Amino acid sequence: MLNKGCPEEELFSFFSQKKREDLDHNYILSSMCTLPHPVAVRAHCMFMETNLGDPGLFPGTASLEQLLIKRFAALYHCPDAGGYATSGGTESNLQALRLAKVQQKDIPYPNAVVPESAHFSFKKSCDILGIEMRGVPLDDTLRMDADAAAEQIDSNTIALVGIAGTTEYGMVDPIAALAKIANQHNVLFHVDAAFGGMVIPFLDKPIPFDFSLPGVTTIAVDPHKMGMSTIPAGCLLTREPDLLHALNIDTPYLTVKQEFTLAGTRPGAPVVGALAVMDYLGVEGMRAMVKGCLKNTRRLIAGMETFGFERAATPDVNVATFIAKKEDIPAPWKVSWTRPGHLRIVCMPHVHGERIEAFLKDIGELHA
Ligand SMILES: *Cc1c(COP(=O)(O)O)cnc(C)c1O
Repeated sequence: MLNKGCPEEELFSFFSQKKREDLDHNYILSSMCTLPHPVAVRAHCMFMETNLGDPGLFPGTASLEQLLIKRFAALYHCPDAGGYATSGGTESNLQALRLAKVQQKDIPYPNAVVPESAHFSFKKSCDILGIEMRGVPLDDTLRMDADAAAEQIDSNTIALVGIAGTTEYGMVDPIAALAKIANQHNVLFHVDAAFGGMVIPFLDKPIPFDFSLPGVTTIAVDPHKMGMSTIPAGCLLTREPDLLHALNIDTPYLTVKQEFTLAGTRPGAPVVGALAVMDYLGVEGMRAMVKGCLKNTRRLIAGMETFGFERAATPDVNVATFIAKKEDIPAPWKVSWTRPGHLRIVCMPHVHGERIEAFLKDIGELHA
């Protein structure tokens, strides 16, 4: 630590300089995060000091967290669903698997059946929880193969996982078929909709992925991705309102006596930020935003194909992937690469149509 404090102006000029080293969102095509909506920023600043980890001190903020959960419960066709605001998909996935493990304490060598397309947070979660992770291959459309999933389930399986909007290829697994399988085998079925949970409900033709399917037990969704909230904002939803109470531990010196959350101290600011965007935009506003992102995704795919870059998949949500090489990408554009080596671009709300055209123009010139 500095021995003598630094004057504020000097400090903030140093911070400004560092902030300028961050990439310009105009060129970021690789991220599932985006610029927060102005109403999220406003709500975030307003609730800056709130701590949801001690809800008795912040009953107003805590009621807004409940309201956010209610919004998702209604959107996901189960008005009585329970849940809480997490720090993001990683925590939601970890807590869902922790729940599965706690519910089936007597299984000595538990396993979770997870598609090979799963986000790396499942690897972390299984490591922490001491669960064997069983990978299920994908079909040729890059969706989890439901029959192969059923074959992997045995008496030690505590959870089945499906992805609604895969991180790398934007695919929605056959959630309805997987829900049936989970029901038949009586295992917890967790749907990771971290990305797709704020896209799929607003599509012209929504794909069933939520509590409208009887086998779905829990759902993860991240408002800090397509929900345009400030970071960090995720949610874990449970069909049964009190399911998470199985994770309760005693919290002696707080205003509540028990908690099931992973973090103790939890920020209220991004949670109210998430609610602010949902209530400000409403279903109509979300539909319009999603429509724009999908239009841009289709335009990008069509444009890339005219340059001879074949698509790697035909996505269900706004993630576009191509067969391309690193040297095909002009500076200063920031793209990403999938594990199998495909070019990946996420058409987030900050990636406006005009940015897609600018990228296509640059890549076209490089290949002229
Ligand atoms: C982003 C993502 C996660 C991880 O979410 P974080 O908020 O980064 O922890 C998990 N699953 C899927 C499908 C994701 O896209």
